[in-house]
Amino acid sequence: MKFKNTIVVTLTLIMFLSCATNPFTGKKTLAFVSNAQLFPTAFAQYNQVLTESKVETGTTRADMIKRVGQRIAVAAERWLNANGQQGYLNDYKWEYNLINEDIVNAWCMPGGKIVFYTGILPVAENETAIAAIMGHEVAHALANHGQQRMSAGMLQQGLAVAGNIAIKDDKTRNAFNQYYGVGSSVLGMLPFSRSHETEADRIGLYLTALAGYNPDEAAELWKRMAKASGGQAPPEFLSTHPANQTRITNLTALAPTAKAEAKKFGVSSFRPLGKY
Ligand SMILES: [Zn+2]
Repeated sequence: MKFKNTIVVTLTLIMFLSCATNPFTGKKTLAFVSNAQLFPTAFAQYNQVLTESKVETGTTRADMIKRVGQRIAVAAERWLNANGQQGYLNDYKWEYNLINEDIVNAWCMPGGKIVFYTGILPVAENETAIAAIMGHEVAHALANHGQQRMSAGMLQQGLAVAGNIAIKDDKTRNAFNQYYGVGSSVLGMLPFSRSHETEADRIGLYLTALAGYNPDEAAELWKRMAKASGGQAPPEFLSTHPANQTRITNLTALAPTAKAEAKKFGVSSFRPLGKY
């Protein structure tokens, strides 16, 4: 009996300690893995992906990815500061890389490590749409969606709580990639939950507008995504991000709110789409 109670108390304590309130969502979220434990693993994993890939640098489009990423990061910081969350991004080390590979995908690892593949560029069509994708991916990272997914996965698999997820072997690394949607031709990617997707769409749209990009373009982007899913290219991004009518309708409805939100920060006009 006593033993049982101890277990209950311990579990309650663990739950309490590992439920952090996310400033973007205002919700308590399940996070067994802290940023301090997770970020070094993510950074190491990110560097490994870069080492194994053809990273494009110095081109107009690679520069564009960096420019958009920096603007979205600045927008996130302004938004957090305005909401009394100074220091939230202290452990983040933003990086934005373009990998030369013909796959329709982009992702963001914990701590702000972002990859775009060149295959997504023709679907995006313009810089504003890149900003919409960037905003969405950054929103997943800020809301710790991957972390929650990982925690849930760890629970399911009965893995040790509280850490030690350093990359020790291929199996762990593959699991990590799966949780974060990094993907490869071998691995399937776990889709984020529908509520995570809706959240990332909403937060991402605010960031896009706040960074000076017209949020109206997000719905247009998803219409093009829907069209591309009928094409030849393997739609990695679409396997975890269905370009359905609900999403397009939601984004269209949210655009005026995103503009109003941006206006509070003095952003009342937007850049041209930036065709390239
Ligand atoms: Zn997403």
